[in-house]
Amino acid sequence: MRKTIIAGNWKMYKTIKEAIELSNGLKRELFKLDTAAIDVVLCPPFTALSEVAEVVDETGIFVGGQDLYWLEEGAFTGEVSGKMLKESGCSFVIIGHSERRQFFGEANEGVNNKLKAALSCGLTPIVCVGERLDEREAGKTFDVLKSHVTGALSGLLAEDALKIVIAYEPVWAIGTGKTATPKQAQEAHKYIRDLLHKLYNQEVASEVRIQYGGSVKPDNIAELMRQPDVDGALVGGASLKVESFSEIVKKAAEVLK
Ligand code: PEP
Repeated sequence: MRKTIIAGNWKMYKTIKEAIELSNGLKRELFKLDTAAIDVVLCPPFTALSEVAEVVDETGIFVGGQDLYWLEEGAFTGEVSGKMLKESGCSFVIIGHSERRQFFGEANEGVNNKLKAALSCGLTPIVCVGERLDEREAGKTFDVLKSHVTGALSGLLAEDALKIVIAYEPVWAIGTGKTATPKQAQEAHKYIRDLLHKLYNQEVASEVRIQYGGSVKPDNIAELMRQPDVDGALVGGASLKVESFSEIVKKAAEVLK
């Protein structure tokens, strides 16, 4: 049985003060949440990780980084290691987000190094995969998913593959207000799950959680969550407000009942 996971990617929004406000608001709204049924992860900018972790301490709400570098330390100006994220209170880390791929030249090899680094220090990687609009229109969606998933997981043993979360995020749906239809999301998630079966085994295919990301909102989360291979959501814009994010979490929890 896969546990639902809803994560909020705050991107480069929220100062420390604003991040404390937002996480306090979410703590108030979600205090009744059944944390045995659903994982909630907040991914603020690096600067606010420790403060957010302190606010949600002992609530069952998790904190995640938005990226990491694959070495433990060194002369890599601007980078942050997995060990540093752990110390700041993180349990999760987003890897290979399409904005990293698009604006910072991140490619499969770097994603693979980061994923291994995250696992080696006990962080759960949320690995983002997904096609651009031109790739979808050219009928290449599954090819892109295959390349992203196999590239990210290259050299990973089944026992480690079991520990990851995959976020299917069609790039054309991120921050555009255009959500993939539940059918499109299910089709992509099913493809990824079948691919995990081919790459590993039935256990990995049935255990790995696959989140959908791309303009998730309170009014579309339930239908997405009803798809058999959709195990949660990675939420950008709608995670920046207490009302919308808590509503998404509550609606996802209702679908589980
Ligand atoms: C994201 O940044 O991962 C994302 C899905 O953004 P949005 O929800 O704003 O489309």
